[in-house]
Amino acid sequence: MFRFRRSVYLDNNATTPVSREVQKMMIRVLKNNYGNPSSLYRVARDSASILEESRENVAECIGAGAHEVIFTGSATEANNTILTGLADHFYPGKKKIIASPIEHDSVMMTLEHLKKRGIEVLYCPVDNHGRIDIRAIEACIDDNTFLITCMMANNEIGTVQDINALSRIARRRDILLMSDCVQALGKIRVHVRESGLDYASFSAHKINGPKGVGAVYVREGCPIFPIIHGGHQESGLRAGTESIHNIAGFGKACQEVRNNLELADDIGKVKNYFAMGLKRINPGILLQSPDSDSLPNTLSVTFPGVSNSLLMAFLDSHGIACSAGSACNTQADSPSHVLKAIGLTDDSARQTIRFSLSKKTGKKDIDYVLESIKDFLDMGSSPVNIVLPGHVDENFLRNEDLFILDVRFWHDRKSLRGLSGSHEASFFSIKGYLPDLPKDKYVLAVCQMGYNAPIIAYLLRSNHFKRVGFLATGLLGLKMVNPELYEKYSGRDIIKLTPRS
Ligand code: PLP
Repeated sequence: MFRFRRSVYLDNNATTPVSREVQKMMIRVLKNNYGNPSSLYRVARDSASILEESRENVAECIGAGAHEVIFTGSATEANNTILTGLADHFYPGKKKIIASPIEHDSVMMTLEHLKKRGIEVLYCPVDNHGRIDIRAIEACIDDNTFLITCMMANNEIGTVQDINALSRIARRRDILLMSDCVQALGKIRVHVRESGLDYASFSAHKINGPKGVGAVYVREGCPIFPIIHGGHQESGLRAGTESIHNIAGFGKACQEVRNNLELADDIGKVKNYFAMGLKRINPGILLQSPDSDSLPNTLSVTFPGVSNSLLMAFLDSHGIACSAGSACNTQADSPSHVLKAIGLTDDSARQTIRFSLSKKTGKKDIDYVLESIKDFLDMGSSPVNIVLPGHVDENFLRNEDLFILDVRFWHDRKSLRGLSGSHEASFFSIKGYLPDLPKDKYVLAVCQMGYNAPIIAYLLRSNHFKRVGFLATGLLGLKMVNPELYEKYSGRDIIKLTPRS
């Protein structure tokens, strides 16, 4: 059952590997260019020239002028900068922002935060493929509206929006238009000026660049304000000494975008091959990504009746990486807001997995993934025990045969007491604990919400632990379903395990 014949990375919308050329560039800069670009002597000037060269590379790649690009620490920061600055600038004269309901959390959470400060946010509905309704958006515009924000391409289902149509409306009604272009860059053509955008955000690590660097595009003449104050870097719009090696890596990654775009059709063909293979396994499998106007690499798939966390844990034990939607959301209990916005029920959303391919994904990889999915679906019973919180009672918890392995993160342990008698281990370095875990006992993996424990359960099974289970919906679920039991059997005799190095 636990063959692990190859590693297949299908989570390229979460992040991408750093390309060889980007690595070379970054190492060169790390070795040679330590100068602070704000200083005036030669080593500093060398750093400044790398900074400006990278800015030009990013600008050229997105269809902007170099003076319209501001480097940030991430696209999350870029989105926060645009939204917060504009809200402060326009409020209280104008109060309203119109947004799509399927924005990334870095936009959604910022909007929710701004609401507490008096900003009115109107989420316009999308259809069941996530496409915005341009007319509905236009109908929502009033004298109070100062901004429309709509991502160019969605990270979970891959829907590509008609930004040009939105920009025509924004121009006509004299409203600013912002677009989170993080997922679009490198997968479809992005040209901020031709699209008529006033603001856009970008992230290097989605295009084979480094993590920890992003950019704001701000059209010449549009208002923009810093959210990080201090030095005069980035024309006073983003204080803090520039991360030259990251910025250089971003610039290099942007230079590779054009070549990568030429491979988009090939990636799309592999995606279609995957989609057809899934339908062959079971015609009841539902594809949530639209057929057209969609990112070539993104396939969101609902497996009716199958828990996504269990299937993902099984695939992980086979060397296959995929995710349940936004990487930022995989620790959260609530089902994806994107899937809910396109009409999925909570249950269907919890049965949905996002596969995001890259130019490195071949048909052989997809064959292996399809075979693994088929193996999982064909299995009569799960090789790891799924313990529902409703099935946990005093007898279960008192059983001498039970070994509770608590793999929660430290911040979760602070917010919720562990089960009495449980053994704490780190999720990330679980291999170090394996020699000391009892093979003769029933091992129950426990996490906060039920997402991480299945991965550990499968890992134990593949390491010859015969009797393994996990607590579905985690400790939070148990506390909710049976608060008295949780109160009585938590917080005592907890043992902290030490991993072997
Ligand atoms: N916007 C979208 C659409 C994304 O997919 C992501 C990352 O997943 C972000 C913004 C945030 O990017 P960063 O990781 O650079 O903060």
